[in-house]
Amino acid sequence: MKNIILLSLCTCLFTGIRAQQVDVQSYAISLNLQDTTDQIKASVSITLKYLQSTRRLKFDLAGMKVKEVFTGPKKYSFEQDANALYINVDGKAGEQGIYTITYGGTPKDGLIISRNKYGHRTFFTDHWPDRAHQWFPCIDHPSDKAIFRISVAAPDHYTVVANGVKKEEVNMGGHMKMTSWEEKVPLATKVMAFAAADFSVTHSGDVGNIPVDSYVFREDSLHQGYARATQILPYFIQLVGPFQFEKLANIQSKTIFGGMENAGAIFYAEESPGHEKLESLLAHEIAHQWFGDAVTETDWRHLWLSEGFATYFTLLYMEHTYSTDTLKASLKADREKIIAFAKRRKTPVVDTTVHSNYMQLLNANSYERGGWVLHMLRRKIGDERFRAGIRQYFRDYNGRNASTDDFRAEMERAGGENLKGFFTQWLYTAAIPELQVNLNYNESTHTVKMEVIQNQLPLFEFPLEYTLDKTKPLQKLMIKDKVTTVMIPAAAKPAGIWLDPDINLLAEFAR
Ligand SMILES: [Zn+2]
Repeated sequence: MKNIILLSLCTCLFTGIRAQQVDVQSYAISLNLQDTTDQIKASVSITLKYLQSTRRLKFDLAGMKVKEVFTGPKKYSFEQDANALYINVDGKAGEQGIYTITYGGTPKDGLIISRNKYGHRTFFTDHWPDRAHQWFPCIDHPSDKAIFRISVAAPDHYTVVANGVKKEEVNMGGHMKMTSWEEKVPLATKVMAFAAADFSVTHSGDVGNIPVDSYVFREDSLHQGYARATQILPYFIQLVGPFQFEKLANIQSKTIFGGMENAGAIFYAEESPGHEKLESLLAHEIAHQWFGDAVTETDWRHLWLSEGFATYFTLLYMEHTYSTDTLKASLKADREKIIAFAKRRKTPVVDTTVHSNYMQLLNANSYERGGWVLHMLRRKIGDERFRAGIRQYFRDYNGRNASTDDFRAEMERAGGENLKGFFTQWLYTAAIPELQVNLNYNESTHTVKMEVIQNQLPLFEFPLEYTLDKTKPLQKLMIKDKVTTVMIPAAAKPAGIWLDPDINLLAEFAR
């Protein structure tokens, strides 16, 4: 996601980690939408594998009333509470099950039925972090990835788009149309999506065999739409690895976020077409297709593996497209945000204290600090090893889930060094270095005594780049103690010192 605008509060209550009863293989949803009511009628067939034997199968579900649960002619009894559906089954570990659930109701969240800024009725899913179960029964956790199929029956003025490939579009009579989509790559529920709206659709181009399309509201069809995506996509393909989804649709939407990285069907805020920051927003959401969508964090506390990556890979795209100065300017601005956030809330990037209300994780730690950690890691091990590590990480975890430790292990292999200390101080420590630098010039010995003091606890270990003369190459000083002193020869008293002029250190410098 990007640039969040919190228009609604998350009502999720359950904890991040739980023993899984089942592994869902696929969801096949049939959905009926009408213009005369916000009530939906739906059924979902869930194919799953039992990971443990159980007599009570639990799915997350809120606000929907279940009518029937069956497998072919066999019906199951079930119960519902505010957040779950419990089906009485006889599931044996290792066996497969297929359950069809018919249900209906008016979604309070997860499927946003409203009007766009031009007053036209629209339907948009919006699932992050775990809001999918507000309109369909599912295991609403990033660790259970499944194939997503959806058939939407809706009044025929709507264009329906979803993850994956369009399988069918048929007129049903009575001004109703059925549109079916299927995504064969297993997805986390947070990035499953569909939309129904009066779209104007433009084919922006093909990137290899990936069609890239723009879906915008009819009134916004004069804008270029999201055509820039055709230039951003090839950059990430060459940098990271193949794009995993069958198409890339860029869709104007009613998401509560600035953008939402639904796999192969990205939703952007209503105001995004023609917005001055559209290019970086596109880059952010497209980068998520690798980080967040193809490789997914094991749970929300490792969110930086999604948002920090999308943040930094946007900067890499901007550096590649514009200049290193663009990268530096962004890193500098991001550093300010991180420092301001750290003063308000003392919490590490991997925040193990968050067990609910995951919206609070959408902060400068997950985004900007996560991005900064990647930048410092790149500087630490060098461009080539950094890139090799990222590519290998993607290859190894593509289609799966990864934790911060999984990523560290990949980068240790690529970088050829132990990164435990680096990861601990930057990702598992709330503090950031607060540095005070004192200079004293001795006229008789022609030396400058430079003293670097770490004013925060715990102490950090990092290289500090500096120069006393802007025309000379930068010097690097390793800092790990409370006070580090260095004597620098200087013919005359220096006019000043330039600390971290290339913006490579996440630290606050005392003025
Ligand atoms: Zn994001």
